[in-house]
Amino acid sequence: MEDNSTTTNRENLGERNPLLTLAEHIRGKGAARVIDYHVHERHSRDAAMAKISEYIAAAEGRGITEIAFTTHLITIGPDVDLSIREEEIPEYIREIRMAQDGTRIKLLAGLEVDYFPGEERHLEAILRGNDFDFILGSTHYINGVDIGSQSQAEGYFANRSITEAADEYYKVWKRAIESGLFDVMAHPDYWRKYLRFYGRSASWGDYGSVLFDALDAMADNGVGLEVNTAGKRAGTGNYYPIQEFLVAAHEAGVKVVTVGSDSHTAGTLGYHLEDAIRQLREASFTHMSTFKDRKNTRISIGDMLERTRTRAKLGV
Ligand SMILES: [Zn+2]
Ligand SMILES: [Zn+2]
Repeated sequence: MEDNSTTTNRENLGERNPLLTLAEHIRGKGAARVIDYHVHERHSRDAAMAKISEYIAAAEGRGITEIAFTTHLITIGPDVDLSIREEEIPEYIREIRMAQDGTRIKLLAGLEVDYFPGEERHLEAILRGNDFDFILGSTHYINGVDIGSQSQAEGYFANRSITEAADEYYKVWKRAIESGLFDVMAHPDYWRKYLRFYGRSASWGDYGSVLFDALDAMADNGVGLEVNTAGKRAGTGNYYPIQEFLVAAHEAGVKVVTVGSDSHTAGTLGYHLEDAIRQLREASFTHMSTFKDRKNTRISIGDMLERTRTRAKLGV
């Protein structure tokens, strides 16, 4: 369902590297703020080998100061086996809280929840009943079709224009936004993941009109938008969403934005996130959001990029 790229070389800054001490000093003062708000660990069955400890080690090596773990919650449909089981949720959160005791990396307990119309009350009970920091909403399934499946996605687009397919997607996406269940909506144009495999492509002009209603709903409800860098790893040539989408979101008044690598392995933690933040700035966003206890705090994109650049200059 998700992009599941193999591990790249993990940076390994040994203790004898004198810059590490400096980097830690900077992080200790809260100077560097590279954050990854979409990360799957082993409770997502499509990330079964991914350990929290490995993500912490990768974050320490890459100057990433925050990780929001967002394991899959899929309550119905054919992919429930990829989901954390409801009875595992307390243990999942406990593991994250225990790991927090041993690191200065800020760790958040979250979910990536699949939205299905009709499941709202069930999802609300799960979200209320647990101590989450951050909840991503996702639409991987539209009217029963898994558009994150290469074989099913082709059928989704068959015999109709891309705009008609996109409109159908954003109708469901808008309902997810209006459900009030989610802090931020993940990978906003995920539907185009497999288009290129069957000779189709989508440009901004194909995105249809329902999307604009959904962006208005997003602004009205204070729901956020994610820039998800897995689109690049999946070979779409862009992040999710494309740049024009970000510009439209800003113009619609969307204020809450996060970035995430959608990692299913520690090798991709932080993947292209600085560039994603730059794209937000190019779309005129001045702030992005961090979360704790499902409350968001806005932080300056300018400050974040400046601190990132300073750290890059230092070679750490
Ligand atoms: Zn997803
Ligand atoms: Zn994901």
